[in-house]
Amino acid sequence: MSDAGVLHIKGRVLVGPEDVRDELWVVDGRVTFDRPAADDVRTVSGWVLPGLVDAHCHVGLDAHGAVDEATSEKQALTDRDAGTLLIRDAGSAADTRWIDDREDLPRIIRAGRHIARTRRYIRNYAHEIEPGDLPAYVRAEARRGDGWVKLVGDWIDRERGDLAACWPGDALAEAIAAAHQEGARVTAHCFAAESLPDLLAAGIDCVEHATGLTEELIPQFAERGVAIVPTLVNIATFPKLAAGGEHRFPAWSAHMRRLHERRYDTVAAAHDAGIPVYVGTDAGGSLAHGLVAQEVAELVKAGLSAAEALSAASWGARAWLGRDGLTEGAPADLVVYAEDPRADVRVLADPRLVVLRGRPVG
Ligand SMILES: [Zn+2]
Repeated sequence: MSDAGVLHIKGRVLVGPEDVRDELWVVDGRVTFDRPAADDVRTVSGWVLPGLVDAHCHVGLDAHGAVDEATSEKQALTDRDAGTLLIRDAGSAADTRWIDDREDLPRIIRAGRHIARTRRYIRNYAHEIEPGDLPAYVRAEARRGDGWVKLVGDWIDRERGDLAACWPGDALAEAIAAAHQEGARVTAHCFAAESLPDLLAAGIDCVEHATGLTEELIPQFAERGVAIVPTLVNIATFPKLAAGGEHRFPAWSAHMRRLHERRYDTVAAAHDAGIPVYVGTDAGGSLAHGLVAQEVAELVKAGLSAAEALSAASWGARAWLGRDGLTEGAPADLVVYAEDPRADVRVLADPRLVVLRGRPVG
């Protein structure tokens, strides 16, 4: 499509779960519901969603740490072609700022680099520091990122042989206050329950994975509006991790298996209690990019309705991250499907057309 041309999409425009329109146009890269006076019009039909959101996705990272720009580009293109047009990068060791200048790549909301306790995370990923330095590092990453900071809240403690909290409560409180002062929100990687009370008391905004949520903690998360991004496609790998660590760390292995076994119940209980749940795939560590449709299907398996799971990857996630949906004048980031994703979310796996910044891509 030339820049001068107009894209006309008709069928079912899913502006919100209940707000459905018959058509929209893309003019100069933006959405309009008013028919423009134009000759050069291309019409596409189908079901339209705002560009999907992957709220936990690492561009610029692989299993060994930072990757080069060519690899980062490939990752971002894979996400884009799967319909993910907005990424909340949950920590990256690479500087991906150059992607902002690329009109053909998804938009990224960065969290800077992961902040972890010394030798308590995957090698080459994080700033590895001690608690006394936490507030200063959090403030620095808040300034580097796009409104989020990523902590590693718990990890295996090899001496204990089990998952253990990484930070004392007072360091967390000071660090999270520093991020909030800088206008950034803070999220933390947490598998077990142990780290959650201190993070909650310190004012955490979101928890990644959140497999350790308990009956006691769930109402507290709900009351404070702390969101979770379960990354169920990642949690599916826990049994394999547990098998690998069985010999050296049997207690850790058993713990990981328990968290895995109750993963759907945990997400369902959190969702039922009113905790905001969002779609994240954790692509870029050991997982492939482009798994957004699978994660939406996993949330349905956990008990969210199709419309709720779609919202966790589109309408709701965009509102949470402060980005437009399909509103008049919004940037035209949208995905067209051949069938109704509300009837069956598996439709997301096969987009008919992906439109980014008003241009058909892929
Ligand atoms: Zn991650």
